[in-house]
Amino acid sequence: MTRVVRVDPEHPDPARLAEAGAVLRDGGLVAFPTETVYGLGANALDPAAVARIFAAKGRPAHDPLIVHIAAVDEAARVAAAVPERARALWARFAPGPLTLILPKHPAVPAAVTAGKPTVAVRIPAHPVALGLIRAAGVPIAAPSANKFGHTSPTTAQHVLDDLGAAVDWILDAGPTPVGVESTIVDVTVDPPALLRPGGVPREALEDALGGPVVWRGDAAAAGEVRAPGMLPRHYAPRVPLWLFEGPRAWAREALWQTAAQLARGQGQRVGALVPHADAARLRPLGVVVADLGPEHDPAGMARRLFAGLRDLEAAGVEVILARTVAEQDVGLAIADRLRRAAAHIVRPASRAAAS
Ligand code: AMP
Ligand code: MG
Repeated sequence: MTRVVRVDPEHPDPARLAEAGAVLRDGGLVAFPTETVYGLGANALDPAAVARIFAAKGRPAHDPLIVHIAAVDEAARVAAAVPERARALWARFAPGPLTLILPKHPAVPAAVTAGKPTVAVRIPAHPVALGLIRAAGVPIAAPSANKFGHTSPTTAQHVLDDLGAAVDWILDAGPTPVGVESTIVDVTVDPPALLRPGGVPREALEDALGGPVVWRGDAAAAGEVRAPGMLPRHYAPRVPLWLFEGPRAWAREALWQTAAQLARGQGQRVGALVPHADAARLRPLGVVVADLGPEHDPAGMARRLFAGLRDLEAAGVEVILARTVAEQDVGLAIADRLRRAAAHIVRPASRAAAS
């Protein structure tokens, strides 16, 4: 039976954390909140416990896990070396939504890193996550606590909906404050590479390092790789999502016209995941709207993104329409997740023809 245990997000009861820590040490699975999304945790040094994570999620064995520690000095337990650049980034962003790729320590089972010589390490900035790691006394391997390929969970209910009985404990501390996953940076290569945009903006990383952090999206923007179908689909809702990508005014109008055509013309049940300014014009069409909030607040939009996708699924819509937002700060992570969730990317005719 899954135990759902309510804890205060700021001051979790140490007795509850001690119990949950014991479950982890005994090889169990504990889902817990981090500042980004809910994680599905197991003792990172116990191969049998780690195998349960892959089974519960239906995650393929070739997809490596992030290992969570409570402080920088614990990195030596899971990483063979901590390069100077890693220390510089952690000095500024730990604890926080930043995952670093480091050379792997032999103590970490191959299953955790999918056989790679590197390991992903993060120090989460959530009192419940930090308290749990300390109570367990071991590093905790934890991917997002959703079924593989589904949207990441930002509430305990999302975890229950996806994983239910496969989890021993769920620590419920309410909605997660960041809402998109951690930024992943590979510091074993030079210059460092941004593998996944997330809660720590790329601009802040480059500022801390005093140099570039390379992002494959740059090549895409330069026209080197642009085939939406080739992007790995991840973070996907269970309903097809159409993403309108292009100049803001065009994207708003194209989304509205498509919504009108599908909802009024074809009688479809249409959902829209849009900034607040778009919502009022869509509702009269009978569109189910998930309101991301003001467009000038990317942090707020990030916090509402995954819950919005799940709400639209639950509302039984047949299609979800969304549009891109400015790629500044955490907006880059929002744009990335929307692209990965998209079944179709719709662009203005001139750009589509040029690509
Ligand atoms: P999740 O925790 O579900 O958000 O997924 C963790 C992601 O971290 C994986 O899908 C990988 O993309 C990435 N990751 C974990 N370990 C490594 C590694 N050693 N090298 C590169 N990427 C990694
Ligand atoms: Mg995930």
